[in-house]
Amino acid sequence: MPYTDFEKIKTLIKNRKLSHAVVLEGSEDATLDIAVKIAAGLFCQNDDFYCGKCKNCTTVLARSHADMLILEPEKTNYAKDQMRELVTQANLMPFVAEGRTFIITRAEKLREDSQNTLLKVLEEPPAGVHFIFCVTNRALLIPTILSRATVFSFIEETQGEYYETAGKLLELGSQKKRYDILKILYGVTTVSRYADLLTELKSRAVQSAYKDNNATKYILLADFIDKAKDQLTFSPSLRLLSDVLCTKLCL
Ligand SMILES: [Zn+2]
Repeated sequence: MPYTDFEKIKTLIKNRKLSHAVVLEGSEDATLDIAVKIAAGLFCQNDDFYCGKCKNCTTVLARSHADMLILEPEKTNYAKDQMRELVTQANLMPFVAEGRTFIITRAEKLREDSQNTLLKVLEEPPAGVHFIFCVTNRALLIPTILSRATVFSFIEETQGEYYETAGKLLELGSQKKRYDILKILYGVTTVSRYADLLTELKSRAVQSAYKDNNATKYILLADFIDKAKDQLTFSPSLRLLSDVLCTKLCL
């Protein structure tokens, strides 16, 4: 994660200046992890940021603190009722800490009407209340929410790029096209470590082929990996790309 935005958040918490509404832009796991640390920082009984040892810190980090609510969509999207409930909760007194923190995970699953339900409470937040929106891309939130919040970005640029590349590779029917793309993007030849990784990928792809209705795809990919193995050079970017391919293949 970029060092700077996390440092900025730490400083703001230490100085008690963190905005009551925060948007964390990045992957689902990374943003939730940071959101929980922010809650620990806000609730900690000992340190400026968080000590990790006091009762507030330990329960927050275990994600079981009574004043930290982690919301996720009940169905595909957040229901409007979930947002109404959130507003009600935000107006309750804290149980243990000096305030309450609400973490809205996968905020891209907030439809516009749900986002609108929150505008008033974001405009006039009850004392000690913090809202943390975790979203893959800030553009998925309406401007009126963004204008009331501070946005911190934890997007790993290159990772997004590899996901996109892997997605595109998987869409291509011809293995020659896939290889050509890899060759152009990374200028590759052979190295044994990468070959081992590809072998592992292949064995997982073949295993998936037996379990899955979409067997043809996996067999094609296994075949592609076989051929690519002889021609690719190990590099961190390829390693990451193959991890992405593996995830797509094996899930
Ligand atoms: Zn603590």
